Amino acid sequence: MSTPNTSNFGFPKNSSSKCPILISDDTHTDLLVRSSNSVEFRVHKTILAVASPVFRDMFHVVDPLSDDEDEVDLPEDGKTLDRLFRLCYPVDEPTFGSLDSAWNVRKAAKKYIMDAAENRMKEILKQFLPEHPLRMFALACRDGFEDEAKLAARHTLRHPLLSSYVPELEDISGGALYRLLEYRLKCGQLTSELGFDWVPRVDYIFFKSGALHSGACLEMDSGMSMINGRFFPARTWWREYVNRARNALRERPCGEVVTTASLMWPALINAASCSTCSALAHNDLTEFAKVFAEEVEQTTTKIASGMSFVSP
Ligand SMILES: [Zn+2]
Repeated sequence: MSTPNTSNFGFPKNSSSKCPILISDDTHTDLLVRSSNSVEFRVHKTILAVASPVFRDMFHVVDPLSDDEDEVDLPEDGKTLDRLFRLCYPVDEPTFGSLDSAWNVRKAAKKYIMDAAENRMKEILKQFLPEHPLRMFALACRDGFEDEAKLAARHTLRHPLLSSYVPELEDISGGALYRLLEYRLKCGQLTSELGFDWVPRVDYIFFKSGALHSGACLEMDSGMSMINGRFFPARTWWREYVNRARNALRERPCGEVVTTASLMWPALINAASCSTCSALAHNDLTEFAKVFAEEVEQTTTKIASGMSFVSP
């Protein structure tokens, strides 16, 4: 049953990992699966039936008393089926070197209703999000995967608008692209207008009033800011940081923006000239910015959860 391109057990000879599905040479297999590119896999119907109701129903239509090995041709290629089967068996997890290879398995897992494999692929695909959010968004919209579309849309916020063209955009509708742009605009607006009802404490040094401030901190007018529903005096170096953060969020509405050094250092330089602020400014502003970033992320996540990117 082997071919020049397959091992004795039907697995590609050039597979980087050892044959996982035949646990031993005398393991009895009862199904031959043939991929679109004629790679053959000898597998166990019981395993596939447990993993997939599609395969389970498929096996019900064959004669259960027959000892003959069944055969089935599937439209997926050999590499995709190899990785899909490895996710069904108690063997080492497959590796994925590209978004395309992972996405093909994700699609196949959904098609065959392999819930466990689907959930695992959702996690595996996250490794490609930082570098390829727009590609994943387009793939998700093209194939109707709303969860991945939401997640990818959130990650596109970390990159500049129209940062780079990806060919997968040709496969999605103008409506899907419009919704992505609409999402970005909403996120920019709402995160740049965030109030301060989430501030964890009000004894930060930049909320300290009195005439003890000095240097640039004293020379700059302070003002009042609404914190947790009350007005607090706020040092100008902090207020200017917040203004810079809001401007940046309009362009790139993601949490990491408000923790960038280019936003924080001008404030800390001014605070360093003040005998009252200098000792605590770095720690307090860093803590504040971290919570600020979390609030931004919660906001963009909430907006995404209320949208449907795949269809109106
Ligand atoms: Zn000060």
